[in-house]
Amino acid sequence: MTTSVGALPVNREGADWPLYLDGDWVGSGQWQDVCSPYDRRLVARFAAADAALARRAVDAAAVAMRAPFPAHARAAVLERAAECLRGETETAANLLCREAGKPIRAARAEAERAASTIAFSAVEARKLVGDMVAMDAAPSGEHKLAFTLRVPIGVVGAISPFNFPLNLVAHKVAPAIAAGCAVVLKPASQTPMSALYLAEMFQRAGLPAGWLNVVPGPAAEIGDVLVADERVRLITFTGSGPVGWELAARAARKRVSLELGNAAPVIVAADANARQAARAVAANAFMFAGQSCISIQRVYVDASIHNVFVAELVEAVRQLRTGDPAEEATDVGPVIDVGSRERILEWIGESGGEILIGGGLTRDGLIEPTVIADPRRDAKVCTDEVFGPVCSVTATHSLPEAIALSNGTRLGLQASIYTESHRTALHAARELEFGGVLVNEVPSWRTDQMPYGGVKDSGNTKEGPAYAVREMTEERLVVLPF
Ligand code: NAP
Repeated sequence: MTTSVGALPVNREGADWPLYLDGDWVGSGQWQDVCSPYDRRLVARFAAADAALARRAVDAAAVAMRAPFPAHARAAVLERAAECLRGETETAANLLCREAGKPIRAARAEAERAASTIAFSAVEARKLVGDMVAMDAAPSGEHKLAFTLRVPIGVVGAISPFNFPLNLVAHKVAPAIAAGCAVVLKPASQTPMSALYLAEMFQRAGLPAGWLNVVPGPAAEIGDVLVADERVRLITFTGSGPVGWELAARAARKRVSLELGNAAPVIVAADANARQAARAVAANAFMFAGQSCISIQRVYVDASIHNVFVAELVEAVRQLRTGDPAEEATDVGPVIDVGSRERILEWIGESGGEILIGGGLTRDGLIEPTVIADPRRDAKVCTDEVFGPVCSVTATHSLPEAIALSNGTRLGLQASIYTESHRTALHAARELEFGGVLVNEVPSWRTDQMPYGGVKDSGNTKEGPAYAVREMTEERLVVLPF
C-alpha cells in the first residue's frame, strides 16, 4: 500500500525519504536504512519499492508517453532542471558526501557535472533528426524520396551504481527525456537519495507526471520487472560486469546498454616527463578512494625512468589527506562498505608485490592510499577491478610489452599513455583495446559530452547525451514517391 507524503526532507539527517511514482512522493511501508560509509551513522531511510510498485511505475511511464511532449518542451524542462541543480550544487554535494562518503570537493565537482550533463541533453533534444537516404543510387529507387525519423524506443528502464549516484543517473534520465522516452529508474540501494533529489529537480522544472519514476529497492525483484515487461524496450545499466552481462542475457529481446568495470592502465613511455606523470597518477588514482570505473589501477613505466617515477609518486601519495569526507582538506575518504574494505585488503595482501606506501588502515579505519611495486601478473590487483585506493607500478622494457600488459585483462574502458612522441601516441591509440585512449592525461579524465564506454567485458555502448539519445531512439524509414 502506498501513501502520498508530499516532498523530500532533503536537509534533515536521518529522515524518511519517499519514492517518486507518477509525479507523486509516496511511502511504501518498507523503510530501508542508508548509512554513512565513513562512520556508519544513519543518514536516512528510504521507501523501498517491490515488484508491484515497479509495475505501477512502468504503467505510469507507458501512459505518460501517450500524451504529446514535443522536443521544444522536453528541451525547456531539461534546461530548467539543469538551472535548478546549478542553483543548489552545495545541497547536492552535501547529499553525495553523506550517502556515498564522497570527499566534499569531489562531490561538488560531480554536482556541477550532473548539471552540465542535463544541459547537454537539452541540446540533443532540440536537434533530434534522422537522415536523408540516397534512393536513386539504386535503379529501383528512382522517383522515390526517403528519409528516417528518429522515434523514441519506448519506456527506458535504468539501473545505476553507487559511485556516481547523481551524475550517472543524470546520464540516463536526461538523454531519455531528450529522446522522448519516459523512465523507470532503480538507483543503487546504498545511495538512492541523490537520484530522488534529482527527481525533485525535474519535478520543479515541470516534467509531467510519469516521465520519471524512481523506485529504489530489492535489485533482483525490480530488475525482473524491467526485464519481463515488454513495454520496457531498453535497459540502460551501469554497474559491475557479472550483474550487467547476466541482465543482458535475460533480456535478449530488448536493447540493453551496458557500462561496466575496468582496471585502467597508464603507460609511461621512455620519453615521457616522469615526474609530471607521477604527480598526475597520485592526484587521480585515489580520488573517491579509487571507486571510479576509470580509476588508475595499473601503471607500466619504462625501466629507464622507473626510479624517478616511483620516487615522485610515493612522495606525492604521502601528501594526500585521508579522512572525514565532509572536511574540505580530505582527498581520500572511505570505501562504500566494510565488505569492500575487507576484500580490498585481502587483494593487497595476496598481490605478491612490494608495498611502497600504504597497505593498511588509518586510525579511523579507512584504507590508506596504497602503491604496490611489481605485483604478480596474475594477482587480482592486476587482473580484476579493485575499486579501492590501490594502484600498482611495474617496470617495462619496451612499448609493445607495456601495450601487451595493458591489454592483458578482459576489461577495456579507458587507458592512457604519457609520451612526447605523436608517433608513439598514435601507435598506442591503435593498439590499446579500450573504448577510449587518452594521451598525456590520466585515464580517469572525462567530460560529459564525449563518447564514453568500454569494449570487451567493460560494456557494449557509449554514454554521453548525443550517443545515449541514439541508443534510446529507433530509426523509422519513410519512403515517398515523386
Ligand atoms: P552493482 O553491484 O553491479 O550494482 C549496480 C546496480 O545494479 C545497483 O543499482 C544494484 O542494485 C543493481 N543490481 C544488482 N543486482 C541486480 C540484479 N540481479 N538485477 C538488476 N539490478 C541489479 O555495481 P556497484 O557496486 O553499485 O557499482 C560499481 C560497479 O559499477 C563497478 O564495477 C564500476 O566499474 C561500475 N561502473 C561503471 C561505470 C561505467 O560508466 N562504465 C561507471 C560507474 C561504475 P542494489 O544496489 O540494490 O544492489
